[in-house]
Amino acid sequence: MALAALAGRLPPPRVAHHVRVRDPDSGEALDDAIALWFPGPRNLTGEDLAELHLHGSRAVLAAVMAALGRRGLRLAEPGEFTRRAFLNGKLDLVQAEAVADLAAAETEAQRRQAVRQLAGHLGALYRGWGDRLLRLLAHLEAAIDFPDEDLPPEIESRVAAETASLAAEIERHLTDGHRGERLRDGIAVAILGPPNAGKSSLLNQLARREAAITSPVAGTTRDVIEVALDLAGYPVVLADTAGLRDSTDAVEQEGLRRALKRADEAELRLFVFDAACPGDARAAAAWPGSDTLIVANKIDLVGRSAALPHGAIAVSALTGEGIADLVRTLGSRIAERYDIAAPVLTQARHREALEIAVAALQRSFDAGLAELRAEDLRLAWRSLGRITGRVDVDDLLDVIFAEFCLGK
Ligand code: GDP
Repeated sequence: MALAALAGRLPPPRVAHHVRVRDPDSGEALDDAIALWFPGPRNLTGEDLAELHLHGSRAVLAAVMAALGRRGLRLAEPGEFTRRAFLNGKLDLVQAEAVADLAAAETEAQRRQAVRQLAGHLGALYRGWGDRLLRLLAHLEAAIDFPDEDLPPEIESRVAAETASLAAEIERHLTDGHRGERLRDGIAVAILGPPNAGKSSLLNQLARREAAITSPVAGTTRDVIEVALDLAGYPVVLADTAGLRDSTDAVEQEGLRRALKRADEAELRLFVFDAACPGDARAAAAWPGSDTLIVANKIDLVGRSAALPHGAIAVSALTGEGIADLVRTLGSRIAERYDIAAPVLTQARHREALEIAVAALQRSFDAGLAELRAEDLRLAWRSLGRITGRVDVDDLLDVIFAEFCLGK
């Protein structure tokens, strides 16, 4: 065993131990270190694991790595520890994905969601559905195999009823407004309003105050400027859109069309207008509801006593006045929607598999023959099983673990 060869002997299990690391071939001392020994199978990966806490200089690492290399050891691939944990049944695939999400989490909300997923609730939900399907399948197959035996005649109708309620449950989970996926990828907030209202200034003000997340934003387009922010612990992708104004210019019309589309697709909107022109706020009526905040900008020019539309948040993108209030209100609107307690869908991969399962369950209602119905249930079960890695997922593993970083 490599650890014993380098440290002289195996330290006691699971206890940090001070050791002198030596080159096993020459006997030369390489470093003074802490060694930890986690014998399998009751550990992270299920296999024997050792940790050496070295003085991290390049020379120490090179010498120790060379000594280990001579004993046939190599560096782990990205995600290899988690992959082994999955293959050894220590984690399901949904938990393995949570490890990658946790390592990549940039905001509090993303961290919380990944920790919840790692705890296994989401995987348990999917496995629970799979188990129910398996029971239904067993009943249906019993009815097929022993048509003349004393099986209760209503068995097929009960299977159908339970299939319907399972399909409805999965559908409810699917129509959650993509909350978990949004939390993972960033909640879209659009800034819109008439030209010169101060939309770009507001975006800059918010981006400067809040720590900008550095990860690239997918789908950034030239006509819509986006910044990723950590806003009150939530990952937000803030988009500045072209000004809303009637125009006959074709390019401007296209910009306007995109701005409106972006505003419609966003989870939340900041409608910004110049506090000196309160009539401009009327255009916000196109987006009624609590997911649009009305922001009266340039309050430094008109003063706090100016007449503003009801509920408008007064700010100055120039001086920063009122911005803290705006961030607080926006944060609480986001918290109302995304403070997620129940396990929610977090990945497009899971969504796809669930959609296949629901489609198969629904097909089963139209299948005339019990054998065909059973085949549909089997298909649905396999699709659910692929989410947690219960059924063959060899084709998926490289894709999933490619997203990991080294050492995980
Ligand atoms: P946009 O067209 O809506 O993106 O507006 P801009 O952010 O480009 O701002 C238009 C003009 O208003 C610029 O000259 C800004 O400096 C100015 N401006 C923006 N916000 C404020 C503000 O809060 N107070 C004052 N006094 N001027 C502002």
